[in-house]
Amino acid sequence: MMDSKQLSALLEAQQEVISKIALAQPLSACLESICRLIEKILDDPQAKSSILLLDGNQLRHGAAPSLPDDYCAAVDGVQIGPCVGSCGTAVFRKERVVVTDLEHDPLWADYKDLALSFALRACWSNPIFSSAGEVLGSFAIYYLEPCTPSDVHIELINRFTHLSSLAIEKSLSSRREAELTSRLRHGIEKFAAFTSVMPDLALILAEDGTYVDVYGADESLLYQPIKSILGKKITDILPAVSSRAVMDVIAKAIATNEVQVFEYELDVAKGECTFEGRITAINHYLPEEPDVRHVLWMARDITGRKSAEKQIEMLAFFDPLTSLPNRRYLIERLQWLIDKAQRNKLSGALLYLDLDDFKRINDSLGHSVGDELLVNVAQRLKPVLRTSDTIARIGGDEFVIILETLEKDIDTLSEEASQVAQKIIEAFSKTFDIKNGKYKIGVSIGISVIHGEDITADEALKRADTAMYRSKNVGGSHFTFFDPALQRILDHRLEIEQGIIQSIKDNQFCAYFQPQMGPDNEVIGAEALIRWLHPKKGVISPLDFIPVAEQFGLITRLQDIVLRESCALINLLIENELVDDSFSVAINISGSQFSNPSLQQDLLDTIREYKLSPGRIKLEITESMLIDNIDLTVKQMIELKSSGFRFSIDDFGTGYSSLTYLQTFPIDELKIDKSFVDNIHTGEVGSGIVDAIIAMSRHLNFNVIAEGVEHKEQADILLTRNVKAMQGYYFARPMPADIFVNWLRQLQTL
Ligand code: C2E
Ligand code: CA
Ligand code: CA
Repeated sequence: MMDSKQLSALLEAQQEVISKIALAQPLSACLESICRLIEKILDDPQAKSSILLLDGNQLRHGAAPSLPDDYCAAVDGVQIGPCVGSCGTAVFRKERVVVTDLEHDPLWADYKDLALSFALRACWSNPIFSSAGEVLGSFAIYYLEPCTPSDVHIELINRFTHLSSLAIEKSLSSRREAELTSRLRHGIEKFAAFTSVMPDLALILAEDGTYVDVYGADESLLYQPIKSILGKKITDILPAVSSRAVMDVIAKAIATNEVQVFEYELDVAKGECTFEGRITAINHYLPEEPDVRHVLWMARDITGRKSAEKQIEMLAFFDPLTSLPNRRYLIERLQWLIDKAQRNKLSGALLYLDLDDFKRINDSLGHSVGDELLVNVAQRLKPVLRTSDTIARIGGDEFVIILETLEKDIDTLSEEASQVAQKIIEAFSKTFDIKNGKYKIGVSIGISVIHGEDITADEALKRADTAMYRSKNVGGSHFTFFDPALQRILDHRLEIEQGIIQSIKDNQFCAYFQPQMGPDNEVIGAEALIRWLHPKKGVISPLDFIPVAEQFGLITRLQDIVLRESCALINLLIENELVDDSFSVAINISGSQFSNPSLQQDLLDTIREYKLSPGRIKLEITESMLIDNIDLTVKQMIELKSSGFRFSIDDFGTGYSSLTYLQTFPIDELKIDKSFVDNIHTGEVGSGIVDAIIAMSRHLNFNVIAEGVEHKEQADILLTRNVKAMQGYYFARPMPADIFVNWLRQLQTL
């Protein structure tokens, strides 16, 4: 047992050591004072304490203020092992080793000479354990003579071993901390250096989109200054589209824990920029808010790269002079269209344009004039096309146009193509104003149609090119189809068009009149039917030239002829007192005539010239025209009706009219189609429908007339069905006006 003096000395010693430890005195100083203090308590000149520190497998000098320096130096670095004196063995065994007489103890066999040479005779050693149970070193008491420790010795040694452990652990931990701090500082410095030159922006956002931190040298990449965004939500800062996009990416990055790469455009301080964003989730960004997840959003300005890419694409696919697509682009697009056409989804036409006489202008006036002309040509071509069409410049003065269409019918396709070609040739009829003059230039066009054939883009182009040469050969400013059959159709149409124009001038068109009969075989009106009296081909059917006249915009001129002749006839009949006030003439109005906004005015102007009332004219429109565009049709009909015209629905029964919608139109008369009349006397088909039409007309208060009546039986049956008006070969064929007058006279003298 320690006496009270020893105990208070011990407490004092503990105090002193602990305060040294707490004040972070160097380890050597702490250990040295531990040694001195135990020696002081032991109060025995023979006792000398020693502290060794374990470093790997070696024991290093810690403190031993009373041992000779040479001994300490000799022991320093000794390897621990099962038989290495007291300390080396204690540390090795991890237990106390008490050697009372080292001269005769086998543990000291290798070291006794050294110890004895310094007069050391006994050594008791304790391993020093850390709080985690690892061995940190040894604490030992040497004696200058063989000696066995008492309980007091053991207790003191235990206490001072513990103090040594405290001192060593503390020093180790402060060393680790210092290391950590310096590494941290180092890291922060590196980070600051890195972010101060970083061309990108690094933004830290909370998962709800709140800006937490912003790093990066270039603030001009921010949508708003750092100060004004920190702590705010992205949804309050960025435009809705952008913030929604970023929020989606954030959600994805958090959900998947994977880096999300995305591109976006933003009008930042620097201007409109394209960014590549990378967003990754980071955990524990704010230690004080461990539950909030954050993301790191790296934003890289890739505007330059993007415009370079565009530039490269431009160079690869566009003609720098006119900015039109080049040959390469065209071939790709064309191949795409051909592939599509084979799968029947699209069809199209290829127009190959070559300027007439461009070479001469270019050679004689110089390339700058030539270039300017080409740019002007490109500008003039663009408005002719629809946005879905492609126009490319594929060579010096060669342009190619691809027309894409959903039309599957080859006639419609070639019709469209020839219309575009016609427009182009017209567009070239105006002169080009180039810096030093005005130039007239023509264009030769070759057309090849793409309609599901298995050909390559090059072949298609070659065909159009071949056709273009044919246009050149006939003197330019002309278009030619590659396909001879299409060309024949085209030639035929052109021939008819030219023929119509010439024939109108030559008065080859006139109206024939077919009488419309009342129930008592009296004439109640006539239908005017146009005829083309061709000097060589004889009488040409309107079915052959009306569609062409419509296409070429010549129909109103024919309408005018029919109306004038009808008015003239009415006046003639009135003058000759051959008809009464109810006599009217029906004229046929086709779809394109009907949709002409000036129809009403044109009709009225002519009728007034003849001093007739519009009630004398019945307009025949077909049932299908009613259905096409109901609202517009009703409007147009109401207007015409209000100025006095009457309406007869031609070819009635062949369409899909339903009772309910018929009453929305201001109709005066239904004209039962010939196909129903044809069968009426055979008793099978037709009569049911005729009955239905009659019933409906009565209900809606429409007049009924039957057309195409060829036989007496038909007329008789119709009469029994209460059809009071009829028209057909049975009564009379359509006749020229003078013959009609004579016929009527004859009828009335009967
Ligand atoms: P549509 O209006 O149905 O005219 C009736 C057609 O049937 C006329 O042929 C007429 O000659 C013929 N026809 C009359 N009675 C009989 C008959 O008993 N038997 C037979 N087999 N046929 C008869 P057309 O004159 O050749 O006219 C054909 C079509 O051309 C007309 O059909 C009409 O749609 C159109 N059309 C005629 N003239 C004009 C016109 O001036 N302007 C417009 N836009 N179209 C016209
Ligand atoms: Ca008719
Ligand atoms: Ca008809």
